[in-house]
Amino acid sequence: MCGVCGIWSPSEDDPTDAARLMFFALYALQHRGQESAGIAATDGRDLRIVRRMGLVGQVFAEPDLAALTGRAALGHTRYSTTGGSRIENAQPMLVRDDRLGELAIGHNGNCINAREVRAELALEGVEFSTSSDTEVVAQAIVAAPGHTWDDRIAHAMPTLQGAWSLVLLTPRAMYAIRDPLGVRPLCLGRKGGAWLVASETCALDTIGATYVRDVAPGEILKIDDAGLTTIAELGADRRGLCVFEHVYLASASSSLGGSTVYATRERMGEILADEQPADADVVIPVPDSAIPAAVGYARRSGIPFREGLIKNRYIGRTFIQPSEELRKHSVALKYNALRDVLDGKRVVVVDDSIVRGSTSGPIVQLLKRNGAREVHMRVCSPPIRHQCFFGVDMARRDELIASRMDVEQIRRHVGADTLGYLSLEGMVRATGAASGDLCSACFTGEYPVPVQLELGKEALEIV
Ligand code: AMP
Repeated sequence: MCGVCGIWSPSEDDPTDAARLMFFALYALQHRGQESAGIAATDGRDLRIVRRMGLVGQVFAEPDLAALTGRAALGHTRYSTTGGSRIENAQPMLVRDDRLGELAIGHNGNCINAREVRAELALEGVEFSTSSDTEVVAQAIVAAPGHTWDDRIAHAMPTLQGAWSLVLLTPRAMYAIRDPLGVRPLCLGRKGGAWLVASETCALDTIGATYVRDVAPGEILKIDDAGLTTIAELGADRRGLCVFEHVYLASASSSLGGSTVYATRERMGEILADEQPADADVVIPVPDSAIPAAVGYARRSGIPFREGLIKNRYIGRTFIQPSEELRKHSVALKYNALRDVLDGKRVVVVDDSIVRGSTSGPIVQLLKRNGAREVHMRVCSPPIRHQCFFGVDMARRDELIASRMDVEQIRRHVGADTLGYLSLEGMVRATGAASGDLCSACFTGEYPVPVQLELGKEALEIV
């Protein structure tokens, strides 16, 4: 998962504002990626880029923003899915065509045929300098036939498969592109005379822009001084917005499919209370992502909601090495328990999902160490059994605990007194979308497009 954002101001607007506005928009999209961040800006002549490893607040200093003058900007926060967590793979990336000039690209998603496309382009003599699928997308555009970026983009996009919410920037225009299924979100907003596109509506809210509409699945939208033009629409016989955006990925404050993610998660908690009731004294969330679900569970069940775990807001993922041992330890670093809420109580603890299963056990132990008499774990999504090929670093299949164990085995593994998951039907119902309009492949294994490749994160690593 990654966050992308674009700002295009017409020429009469203040020309220095775009990168500075982008800086704050990226703060709002920080939850989508914490490995690296970058901004490309243009003054109508060339493109300048600042990108580094780290959080938005660590990446950009005042001199960077001062140097990124221009009335248009493209920003990105990265969580790697294809290609390692390295500075060369940070985005936006810049590619160059001898005739058309520079193009900056920011990508949220995963191009599942990147390996083949890369091999074909390499045969034509294209040289690659990173291990990221985003460079493959960019070079496919550069190598496509056509005398304009419009033509090349329209030619290249149908040759790519997978998920992409893309923002492209040239000195003359910005493009916002969504894959035909619409797996990752991308919305369009307006602030004064400026057009914005962003992964989530929370970025629009942060900088005082208003939501206009979603970029449609399959739409290639061009934004320049003439306004908006849909230059092509890539067809698909179905939709496939990632249901995990509703469950965990998106900010609770964003709107998705006509309601806030917070409200959807509350509904998930209510349905979970109906499907998986518990005899208990208190309902607590695993903060922060499961707070709305626990509110919903408590409201529906009539069991009081309390906060029993306090999350340390300063322990970011950046500082947690992705090894099993450190992940286990991360629970102690991340959460403190409130003994006076838990002592002697039968506790329902609500989490949004169990992925590898390495945090649930330590959470149950932490609650019990702090006096919980019983711990009833309730999970606001079904068991995750299948790998994501569409832009979420969800772990390999063999790392997913539910691909190896049934619910009773998982319950014993995490040490809970009872364990209950939300049903697939209940989760989908809470989103208000038709199941055919969502991608639920991590739960069902039914991928919305055929996935022939076991495409790992390092699939394009250059040896
Ligand atoms: P675990 O079961 O130990 O892998 O951790 C699951 C918890 O991590 C969930 O409760 C979520 O809050 C969070 N989570 C879910 N999906 C992801 C993901 N793709 N990347 C990082 N954290 C995630």
